[in-house]
Amino acid sequence: MGSWDYYCALCGSTFQGERFVSRKPRTARYLWRKQREADFDALVAADPLNGRIDFRRFNEETAAGEDNLDNESLSSQDEDDTYDCSIISKEDATWSNNLQCLGVNSDYPFRSNAFLSDIGCDDEFGAVSAEPGSDSSAPDDLDDYKAYDQNENYPLFPFHPKCFQLLQQTVAFQRGFQIKAKSLLDGDWELNVPGGDFDKDVLYRVFRNLQSDAQLDISYGEPELPHDQYWLANPGEELFIADPGKRNPHAMNAIDDMWREIHSPKSGLEPDITGICNLNLKLMDDPFAHFPLELLLIIISALQPRSLLNLMQASPHIRRGLSRTSFSYWKRRFETDLPWFYEVHSFLQGIPSPASFDARELPGKSLSHFFAWAYHTTTPRWGLHGPFMGIANRRRIWEACNQLVGPYLALVKPEDRNTEVEEDGQFHSDKS
Ligand SMILES: [Zn+2]
Repeated sequence: MGSWDYYCALCGSTFQGERFVSRKPRTARYLWRKQREADFDALVAADPLNGRIDFRRFNEETAAGEDNLDNESLSSQDEDDTYDCSIISKEDATWSNNLQCLGVNSDYPFRSNAFLSDIGCDDEFGAVSAEPGSDSSAPDDLDDYKAYDQNENYPLFPFHPKCFQLLQQTVAFQRGFQIKAKSLLDGDWELNVPGGDFDKDVLYRVFRNLQSDAQLDISYGEPELPHDQYWLANPGEELFIADPGKRNPHAMNAIDDMWREIHSPKSGLEPDITGICNLNLKLMDDPFAHFPLELLLIIISALQPRSLLNLMQASPHIRRGLSRTSFSYWKRRFETDLPWFYEVHSFLQGIPSPASFDARELPGKSLSHFFAWAYHTTTPRWGLHGPFMGIANRRRIWEACNQLVGPYLALVKPEDRNTEVEEDGQFHSDKS
């Protein structure tokens, strides 16, 4: 049996992202073949019994289409097993090569014996290549430790340092601290994350309870992780190695552009960008129109973003009502429903006079559209590329980390659940 890969406990992704980025952009031949594969799937879908499909002719056309295409750049095998360098650069994938571990030193004579390793990289057969770190409980070396080893009493749990910082932000958010998005984006991602307030022993117990073969037993969201004995770098899944903590000026510009578009005189009420169809003509009697306002507010406030958007799609009454809701309402929903979208928070905080954006003063324009756009644009999915890829990966990791927060907070001492973070103002309590 050969070696195997193990994956980040927090995002489920590889520790070797950089080496999967292709050396050259996709060849025309590769793109042609992908197009023909899609065409073939469409043909089969339209004729499931294959009665009218001329397979021979289809294959001949596919081959003929390659005659004048560039066949030089890469072999088909290389292209199939790499991420497209025109979608993600090696430089943008370097963060994923860093590894840090949480472990337990059973030889340490005190009760608190969990330790956080220095940053290193992965190795074969479950080993890690990293120094044990500066915690007093750290062992002399990690030579006898293995990641996720089911036969060991104290396996290591590896993760990307950036994912660990996201876990800290997730825990802080759930404790009631509000993320100061602008300082996080403007400053150094690592320095701006509150450190030292994690109970490593408790966190280790949470990891241990969720241990699986090469990852944790939690949902890592969409797309499905390409786990096998080794990581499978499938084209279209560049999202998995997109940096979740890097400020992307193109994303900031795109947010600004969308804001202007929504508030331009040409913008209509029908939110075509949200995928919400116009049901006004089909729905003769909207049952929500008969609900008391107080009850509607309770329902709406309890809904997750996806459900809220679905309800807006189903009910013109709700849609009209929410399109007239104030700036401060939607700003709050951004903070509570899309807490990981630091770029939008920073953008909204930078608007000079929020009161002037009360939607009631802007007939035909709606912040609900902006919310729906933000939600859909950052939804992790196959084929995603462009400036929001890293933010979508951050959202995916945030939602994975969120599954650990409940078990973690349930195990920490009550007085630690709402500890103020004595930092440089990265987080502050809502109550302060
Ligand atoms: Zn990770």
